[in-house]
Amino acid sequence: MPNWQELEQKYYMKVFSRLPVVLVRGAGTRVWDEAGKSYLDMCAGLAVNVLGHCHPTVAEAVCKQARTLIHTTNLYYTIPQLELAELLVENSCADRVFFGNSGAEANEGAIKLARKWGREHRNGAYEVISFENSFHGRTLATIAATGQAKFQKPFLPMPDGFKQVPFNDLDALKAATTAKTCAVLLEVVQGESGVHLATHDYMVGLREWCDEQGLLLMLDEIQTGLGRTGKFLAYEHHGVEPDVFTMAKGLAGGVPIGAVLAKERAAVFGLSDHGSTFGGNGLACAAGVATLKTIFDEGLVVSAAQVGSYLLEKLDDLKARFEVVVATRGLGLMAAFDLEREVAPALVRSALERGLILNNTGPKTVRFIPPLIVTKAEVDEAIDVIARILPTL
Ligand SMILES: *Cc1c(COP(=O)(O)O)cnc(C)c1O
Repeated sequence: MPNWQELEQKYYMKVFSRLPVVLVRGAGTRVWDEAGKSYLDMCAGLAVNVLGHCHPTVAEAVCKQARTLIHTTNLYYTIPQLELAELLVENSCADRVFFGNSGAEANEGAIKLARKWGREHRNGAYEVISFENSFHGRTLATIAATGQAKFQKPFLPMPDGFKQVPFNDLDALKAATTAKTCAVLLEVVQGESGVHLATHDYMVGLREWCDEQGLLLMLDEIQTGLGRTGKFLAYEHHGVEPDVFTMAKGLAGGVPIGAVLAKERAAVFGLSDHGSTFGGNGLACAAGVATLKTIFDEGLVVSAAQVGSYLLEKLDDLKARFEVVVATRGLGLMAAFDLEREVAPALVRSALERGLILNNTGPKTVRFIPPLIVTKAEVDEAIDVIARILPTL
C-alpha cells in the first residue's frame, strides 16, 4: 500500500496540519482507517455529515441521480434543484433561494445581494458590518468579512467595504453604522471561534436596529442550520427573522453545496446578476432533497435538541469533576469546553488514538459537532474517553 502521508507531503499544498490517520470508510457515526480501526465521529466532517456517514437514503439518491442526470447547467430547468428550493423555502422564512457550491460562495452571494440592496435602497451604501472572531469562509470577500487577522494577513490588502465590531455589543454596532453601511452579517452561534452564542436580547436589538436603519440582517447559518442547534435554523430560537441567510455544510449530506436564501424584498438579484456553473446541479440537489426529507421524517431536529442538552449536562459534569475544564458552552449539537491550559490539541490526539474524533477550535477549546443521529449512549462513550484523558494532560 502507498504511504499516503508521504504522498500528501510531496503533492498537496501545505495548508492542512492533518491528524495522522487515513480514513477510508464510514457508516453512521463511525469511520474506519486503513488498518481497520474504528472511530466514533463527534466532528462529522466539520458539521457536514448531519446524517452520519454514507446514510443509505442519501447514498441511494446520489447513485440514482448519477445514473439519471448528473449535470446540465442552469441554462435549463432541472427537477432536484426545484424540489430542494421548495423544501427550503417552505421550511424557512425565506421566499427565494440561489444554490452555489460551498459556504464561502453562499456568503459571497449574500454580500453581493447586500451591495445591490445598498445601491437600490441606501444611496449606494456598500459596507457590510460583521463580528470579531467570526468565520465566513476563505475567499477574498469572505476573509474580509471574517473578523480574524490571521486569515487576512498574508493576503492584504483586503477588498474595501468590510468592518468588524465586538459580538453581543449593540452599542458598538450602532456606533459603527454609517451612511455607507448596507448590511450586518452574523453567526447566531459563532462556530469556528469556539461556539459562542449571540444573546436573545442582542438578536432582538439587532433586528430592531436593522429595521430602523434600513439595513439587511444577514445570518450565516452554514454551521448552525439544518437542525444543528435544536431548531431547523438557529434564528428560530430568538423569534427574529433575517432578510438573508446562508446554508452549506450539511445541506446535501456530504456532497458540496451552498445556498443563499432571502425574503422577497431582499432578493434583489436580476437577470445575469449572479450565476454558477455547478450551483444547484442534479447530483448535489438530489442529495440535498434526500438529506432534508430524512431530517424531517426522522425527527432529527428534536433529537438534536434532546441529545444536545444531554451532551451539555455531561460536559458540565466533566467541568465539576476536573479542574482543567474551566467552561462549557453549547446549543443543541453544537458544544464546546475550554481547558485551563493549551492542551486541546493533545487531548484531540489522545482521543484519536483511543478511537474518538473530536475537534479543537483553538489551543484551549474542544468542540463537538456530531451527526444529528448521535445517541445518548454514544455521548456517554465519548465522555468516558475524555474523562480518561483529562487526568493525563
Ligand atoms: C464552514 C463555514 C463557512 C465556510 O464554508 P466553506 O464551505 O468552507 O466555504 C462559512 N461560515 C461558517 C459559519 C462556517 O461554519
